[in-house]
Amino acid sequence: MQKIDGNEISNLMLEALKPDIEKIKPSIAALYVGSDPSTLSYIKSKIKKGEKFGIKVNLVNMDINVSEDDFLSKLDELSSDKAIDGIIVEKPLPAHLDIKKAAARIDPKKDIDCLSFQNNGRLITDDFIIAPSTAMAVINILRHASINYEGKHAAIIGRSEIVGKPLSMLLLSKHTGNATVTVLHSKSSNIKEETKRADIVIAAIGRADFVDKSYIGSNSPVLIDVGINYAGGILTGDIDKECYALSSAYTPVPGGVGPVTAATLFENLIKLKKHYA
Ligand code: NAP
Repeated sequence: MQKIDGNEISNLMLEALKPDIEKIKPSIAALYVGSDPSTLSYIKSKIKKGEKFGIKVNLVNMDINVSEDDFLSKLDELSSDKAIDGIIVEKPLPAHLDIKKAAARIDPKKDIDCLSFQNNGRLITDDFIIAPSTAMAVINILRHASINYEGKHAAIIGRSEIVGKPLSMLLLSKHTGNATVTVLHSKSSNIKEETKRADIVIAAIGRADFVDKSYIGSNSPVLIDVGINYAGGILTGDIDKECYALSSAYTPVPGGVGPVTAATLFENLIKLKKHYA
């Protein structure tokens, strides 16, 4: 069983991006509405990582009670700011703010997390420039870990617009996938049946240790854990660690998908800059 080191992959990706970063000297705005300490510390770790590789990440912090108008105006302002190359809207947003409305106000050229219809709609037609960073991080992990997934059966648990759904498109894509894909969700009645026959099981649910041994077949699948859950103050994934022994390879939490997502976000920035140069 191979433990896939997300930090190592992230560093390799950022090293490879260095020449482009040095040329462009990019600056990103991370718009965060709220004051949750764990979200702020996650953003600060992104700022540090960016700085280490020459990318300036500016935290734009708005009050949790900001009006929708002010929030959307801030996105307009960042979109037209020539000093800003990329915009991230940090999640979760408070309930009174709509991520879809936000996505429509981000200049697609600066939309490095692929929120806008102009960017993520291209996944359907298989001519995408970038993909949502967490979904693309899974592809980056499979590639870096030399896991052959073409023609294999991938079962994704979760169908969100930022992870499960775009990942299903990437795994189907003729460019990045060619896998056979099953997407499972809270209304699926046959989850274990599907995961047990899958070569790759990807969990993007948001429930600590949801996937236990009873979900894993005897074929030693690859396990990719996207989940981030704070259970009793401890960070855990969606896959119970007991499953690792039944896998051929797995991503741990922490140290798996998370760091690769951050690197993929920076990779998206470079891809957009080059595409629109
Ligand atoms: P989300 O929008 O809440 O979506 C969760 C998905 O899981 C939904 O499709 C939901 O089904 C499905 N689900 C929930 N309960 C289920 C059940 N009992 N059986 C089967 N499916 C079930 O979450 P998300 O934004 O995709 O994030 C998923 C997880 O990944 C979270 O833990 C999040 O923190 C983490 N995450 C990690 C990163 C990273 O960088 N590592 C980035 C983003 C997110 P329905 O659609 O039917 O409701």
